[in-house]
Formats: sequence, C-alpha cells, structure tokens
Amino acid sequence: MDRRIWEEFGERPDEVHQLAAAIKKAIAVAGEFVLPNVDQEMPEVRLLTALHIRRERNSKVRKMLLDDRRPKGLRCEICALSRPELDLSLQESLFEAHHLVPLAEVGERKTRLTDLALLCACCHRLVHGAMVLKSGWVGIAEARALVMPG
Ligand SMILES: [Zn+2]
Ligand SMILES: [Zn+2]
Repeated sequence: MDRRIWEEFGERPDEVHQLAAAIKKAIAVAGEFVLPNVDQEMPEVRLLTALHIRRERNSKVRKMLLDDRRPKGLRCEICALSRPELDLSLQESLFEAHHLVPLAEVGERKTRLTDLALLCACCHRLVHGAMVLKSGWVGIAEARALVMPG
C-alpha cells in the first residue's frame, strides 16, 4: 500500500500534506497517540510517520507482541523499564508495539514478531521524535544510545 501511495502522491506534495493531516486528525480524534511535532516534518516523512503509527496501533499486532513477551516479563527494549509488581493489565498499559522496519520497505506483507519491539510509551515517543528531528529512520540501537549514553 505504501508503494502505491508513493506512486500516487509522490508528485503531489500538497495532496500528501492534506492526506497526512487527515490521517493525523483521525488518529488524534481516536485519542490514541500524540504525533511528535509533525508540523516540522517534510510532508513525506509526516505521511510515513502517520502510516507507521497507524499500523502500530493495530490491536492484533500489539496483542501478538504482548502474548509473546508476557511469559518472559514485559520490559522496554530500549530503557529496560519493567513494573512486574503491577497488575498485568496495568503493566500492559505502559507498553506499545514499535515496528523495526520502515513501512516503505515491508510493503503489504503481514507483520511478523521479528518486525516488532516492545517499548514503553516514553521511549516510543522518543524514537519517533528522533525520526522527526533527523527526517529519517532511527533504529533501536541508536535510540538506546540516546536514552542511555555511554
Ligand atoms: Zn523505555
Ligand atoms: Zn513506532
């Protein structure tokens, strides 16, 4: 789908801008996630960020990841935050699914467990904020270096 969108909108930044705004609004209305300073971004980056986050909010993807990590204990894969003393449902509310592969690279294929990292909401915000800042992809190792320098 992302490739299709690029073909369709690559030459029309104004429409990309509008579309991204609509996606952003839809996400904001759903009250799910505050996009990191997206107004600073290039329209293309903004669109991809919006699509990325929309895909991450897919409840099946999140459930798949939580099901996998639960037996080992829920822990942020960047800062190592974990709160095992809390009720499981409260623990789960701290964490979000983050895609490790840019959407433009994976295209239509179904999300696999190996595509995902479990991040606390704070680190997840930081990763996407860093992507906005550099207008490019930020991997887990790079994000970890930001959170825990040295
Ligand atoms: Zn974290
Ligand atoms: Zn993410």
